[in-house]
This record gives sequence, C-alpha cells and structure tokens, in this order.
Amino acid sequence: MNPGARLIVLGKQGAGKGTQAVRLSHHYVVPHIATGDMFRSAVRSGSEFGTKAKEYLDAGDLVPDDIVIGIVTERLTHDDTTHRGFILDGFPRTVQQAEALIDILAPQKIDLVVNLDIDNETVLRRLAARRVCSDCGANYSVTDNPPRVTDICDVCGGEVVQRDDDTENAIMRRLELYERETAPLISWYDEREMLATLSAVGTPDEVTDKVVTEVDRRQAPEVAG
Ligand code: AMP
Repeated sequence: MNPGARLIVLGKQGAGKGTQAVRLSHHYVVPHIATGDMFRSAVRSGSEFGTKAKEYLDAGDLVPDDIVIGIVTERLTHDDTTHRGFILDGFPRTVQQAEALIDILAPQKIDLVVNLDIDNETVLRRLAARRVCSDCGANYSVTDNPPRVTDICDVCGGEVVQRDDDTENAIMRRLELYERETAPLISWYDEREMLATLSAVGTPDEVTDKVVTEVDRRQAPEVAG
C-alpha cells in the first residue's frame, strides 16, 4: 500500500476540487476533509452554529477565519489523520488560514498543494451542471457525470440536489472572493516550493492521473547522481 499523503487541493469553484479530493482520498486511503461539507452538515443539524454558518454560505461569503481554523484544528487531531495523512478540500482559503495550518500540523508538514487551474467560462458552465449528494457530499454533473439513477447518490443512496449556493449571484460572489482572498495563496505556496499547478481541464480520470503522478514524483526518494 502507498504511504498515504498530506495534500491540499486548491482551485476555484468548478475546478473539480471536491471530485478530485474524494478520488485522492480513496487512492491514498486517507480522510477527505472538506470544510464546506462540515459547514453544510452543521446547517442541516439546525444547531445555533449551523444557523450562523448558513448566513455566510447562502451569501457566498467566507466564514470568519477564527471559526474555520477552530473546526479544522479539532478535526486534524483525530487519529485517522495523524498517521497516514489527509486531503484538505476548501481549506485553507486565506493566507491567515494557511499560516494557522503550519502551527496545527507542526512538526509535520504538507506534502504538496495541488492547484487545479481553470478558466472562468468553464467554471460557470460546470457549476450550472453541478449537483451534490445531500448526505455524503459526493459530486455529480448533470452533463458529464450524472448519478446512475436520477437524483439518487451512487455512493450512499442519498438525495442528489443542486446546492443552495449555486445561484448565479453567489457563484459570481465566490469567484470574486476567490480572486481577492484565495488566489494570493497560490504565490504564497509557490514561494515555499510546495505548489504544483495542473490543468483541471480533462476527464476526472485524466486529472486524477496527473495529480497522482505529480504527488508520487515528489514523494519518491531522490535518485543519486
Ligand atoms: P465549498 O463547499 O468549499 O465551496 O464551501 C462552501 C462555503 O463554505 C463557502 O462559500 C464558505 O461560505 C464556507 N467555507 C468553506 N470553507 C471555508 C474556509 N476555509 N474559509 C471560509 N469559509 C469557508
């Protein structure tokens, strides 16, 4: 079995970040940690925290850093992440979150930050077709990758729906926030030589193959000479 991996998957909405993160978590046999899924599940639970989070999610706004850092810190102390690693999806989204992550993981480090690169036109087309399982968060596309039975999740049998925040306004707001808050993370990780930028255009299999090849290349011990 492969040794696992500690990876961050970055990319704007519609880059296939969620799909790739799930596939990578199966490949490396490590948990998929998606902050968006954690917030959506809090919203569904109807807790006080969930009600507050819903306001940010519905508007397409970022949840404040201290709240997000708190839930990720708690999650990354569970045994299932400390041995073989994890795939982080949707976190970090700001430089402040990236800085906090260094402290959360120390003395361990991230192996690689995978930046899935895509143009805005393709994003808008993909997001209009995006559907997610309301129970397990699996991603589908009505055009490219529909569930086998209409509206029923292949993985868990849950209901497959359009996300409440996949409205045109919220999508535009998230793209704007991505450019302002999250895009600076790309140069931040690049300066630290932790970044691999790969094109997100292609079938899910093609993109996963590219990512795994790159992660394995970086993890391979250097050949002398
Ligand atoms: P996602 O499923 O990753 O698109 O996240 C859905 C929503 O959850 C985002 O639009 C934000 O409102 C919130 N969210 C998820 N992750 C973060 C994060 N790391 N920082 C701030 N807000 C987040």
